[in-house]
Parts: sequence; structure tokens; C-alpha cells
Amino acid sequence: MDLSLTKDQQSFREEVRAFLAASLTPELRRGAELTSGVFAEPDIAREWQAILEEQGWLVYHWPDHAGGPGWTPIQRWIFEKECAEAGAPVLPGMGLKLVGPVLYTFGTQAQQDYYLPRLRSAEHFWAQGFSEPGAGSDLASLRTRAVREGDHYIVSGHKIWTTQAQYANRLFALVRTDAEVKPQKGISFLLIDMAQPGVTVKPILSASGDHELNEVFLDEVRVPVSDRVGDEGQGWSIAKFLLENERGGSSFAPAILADLARLHTSAGPLTGELADRALRLRLEAEALEMTELRTLIEIEHGAAPDPRSLTTKLLASEIRQGLEALAVDAFGLAGLQLPGERPFYGGDMPAPVVSPAAQVAAARYLNARAWSIFGGTSEIQLTLIAKAALGL
Ligand SMILES: Cc1cc2nc3c(=O)[nH]c(=O)nc-3n(C[C@H](O)[C@H](O)[C@H](O)COP(=O)(O)OP(=O)(O)OC[C@H]3O[C@@H](n4cnc5c(N)ncnc54)[C@H](O)[C@@H]3O)c2cc1C
Repeated sequence: MDLSLTKDQQSFREEVRAFLAASLTPELRRGAELTSGVFAEPDIAREWQAILEEQGWLVYHWPDHAGGPGWTPIQRWIFEKECAEAGAPVLPGMGLKLVGPVLYTFGTQAQQDYYLPRLRSAEHFWAQGFSEPGAGSDLASLRTRAVREGDHYIVSGHKIWTTQAQYANRLFALVRTDAEVKPQKGISFLLIDMAQPGVTVKPILSASGDHELNEVFLDEVRVPVSDRVGDEGQGWSIAKFLLENERGGSSFAPAILADLARLHTSAGPLTGELADRALRLRLEAEALEMTELRTLIEIEHGAAPDPRSLTTKLLASEIRQGLEALAVDAFGLAGLQLPGERPFYGGDMPAPVVSPAAQVAAARYLNARAWSIFGGTSEIQLTLIAKAALGL
């Protein structure tokens, strides 16, 4: 399989590079470099989102009939790789990558007309209300109830691990509309306005001290029936579509390789055991990149992705965790600083010991532990691979 870029793809890459060089301000780069969680905070994210939207590249992964630029899978990969190498902020994915595709695939015309423009303009900030205490890997056992009363559902329940819900004004949620049928058949997919009585968001601080996660309590919250996506009971198949996007919707290797290259610059030349670990991680990330590219080329040629594509989230989690552990070790004692202030690029932050990259290393290391949990744990990924790829 030829993995080299064609002439057209190379000129597209030049176009992306020129745009990034002109549009990515030093403040945005600095903010991204000093982000310790998975996604950029809203201040940076909103600014970068507006720049991308003006350029017509915000929803680069959406098909053209849904308002995307009509790029091929390889063009999307080139864009993601160039963004990673340039150090662009990582936009929150719950709206753009998760509920957006659900809406243009399963939503009514009225839902698409109302929600998609507000998602793109960032008027709506989305959170994902799937997990509950006792319903994570075993998502089908979720208990949040939605009882129909006329043209509304009355929703009560408890969601947990809800990323950036403290900033969100919209929640897409899986709810139980029928408790009498097989668990998967009784689930529906609702779009919930969070700015209403009965919605309470409580923070969960992670080990790093970051506030990314929340609990969301829903107490008799009213949701118009017109804000149900798909039919009643169709929520499970919509969730499976969404989770496939969450696990495999992007390439993971470009960001890992770019961060590894930045570590060499910020921590100075690595020697001895550290150099060995860095080299091993680079080889693993390059192998991952080849796997991701092979899958993209198959998709570009109209083939269904090989089951090998299921391995990418699992491998990316391991390499990412190895990389953040290497960063802490490479910075020595300076890699152990963990200030309580946030964000790391904010004015209240104490002066970093050695360098800003060293200051953020411990928080990133701790947050990266979550890679093998969110979007489906590594154990669950292994089960999927065992079934789909090995036929076990
Ligand atoms: C940083 C972060 C962000 C998140 N963001 C969101 C969000 O925005 N919205 C949302 O809805 N959820 C979110 N989640 C929740 C995430 O999807 C769940 O944590 C995940 O699905 C695991 O569920 P659980 O935490 O209930 O663990 P459990 O399912 O209870 O699993 C506990 C352990 O048991 C193992 N295990 C469970 N079942 C099996 C099995 N059948 N075979 C083998 N091993 C098994 C798991 O691998 C794990 O090691 C987030 C989680 C994290 C850490």
C-alpha cells in the first residue's frame, strides 16, 4: 500500500500550513501548550472555533451535505496532523465530534436547522450524559427515567463523569423510556436544555486538581418530545453510532508524535534510559500512525475499515500514558510541581520551576491515566477486538 502523499495532497498540506501560520496566535499556542486536560478550556476554544468557522474548516470531518468542506479522509488526517504539529488547541469534542454527526444522521430537519448552526457558533456548548453510577461499561443498565406527559418527557436521574458540564448549556443524554423491555430496547436519546430548574451540576476534581468532570443531577426536568433524536427506544443504536465516532473518529498518532517532538525541545536532549524510552514511544506512535493511515486509505477507496482499526484507541492510550510518564521523568524534580491554580496559562499561576512545560507535566501525567477509561475502557476495547478481529 502506497502511503506517500500525492501532489494534490501535498499542496493541500501547504495551504493548511499557511493558514495555521497566519491564524494561530502566540496566545492560542501558549494556551494549548499549557492545557493539562484533554480539551481546551472555553476561553481558548471559543476563539479558535470562531477562526476555524470563518475559514470554513470548523466541521472539517462532516460530509458536505451537512455543511462540511467535503474533504477526503486523507485531507482530514493532513489537517489534524498539521494542527497537532502547529500546537493548535484541541476543541471540545462533545458537540462537534459526537452530537453533531448524530444530528445530521438521525435528527429531523427541524432539529438540524435549530441545533447545527448553534453548535457551530458555540452558542450551544454540549456535554455528554451517558455514564451513571453503576452504568459505565455496562451502559445499557442506565436508570435515568424519562416519563412521557403529553408533549414532554419528565426526566429524573444522576449522570456522572460528565466532561466540561460546568460550561455546558446543552446535554445529550441516554434515558430509559421503557423499563419493561430488554434493557437496550428501552433507551432513548434526548437533547436537554441545562438552563432550567431541576438541573444541578456538581464538580469532581481529578487527582491533578483539574476540574474537567462533573456529576449532573436531573430532577423532574422537562424535555419536549420534539427534542428526542430518533424514535423512542432507538437510543441504543444511536449511542453505538456515537461511540464508534468517539473511539475511532480521529487519528491519535499525530498529536502523540507532535507532543513527543515538543518534549525533546523543552526537556533538552534525552540520554540513556530516557532516550531509549523516547525512541520506543516514537516507533510505537509511528506504527500506530501507519495503522491509522491504512484504515483511512481503505475508507477513501470505499472499503469498510478492517477490524484492526479497533486497536487504535487502545494503543493510543498506552502510548499517551507512556509519553506523559516520560515527560515527568525527563524534567526530574521540576516535573513534580503541581500548583493548585488553573489554568496554567492564567495570570494567577506561580512562576514555573525550570519551564512552563515542566510545570504542566505532573498534571498531564495524572490526567492521562484517564485515557484507558474514557470512551470505553481498555478492557472493553480488548473484548471488542477479541470478538471482531479474532472471532472469539
Ligand atoms: C476523564 C473522563 C471523562 C469522561 N467523560 C465522560 C462524559 O463526558 N460523559 C459520559 O457519559 N461519561 C464520561 N466518562 C465515563 C466513562 O465513559 C466511564 O468511566 C467508562 O465507560 C467506564 O465506566 P465506569 O467508570 O463505570 O467503570 P466500570 O464500568 O465500573 O469499570 C470498572 C473496571 O472494571 C472493568 N470492567 C467492567 N466491565 C468489564 C467487562 N465486561 N470485562 C472486563 N472488564 C470489565 C473496567 O475495564 C474497569 O477497569 C468519562 C470518564 C473519564 C475517566
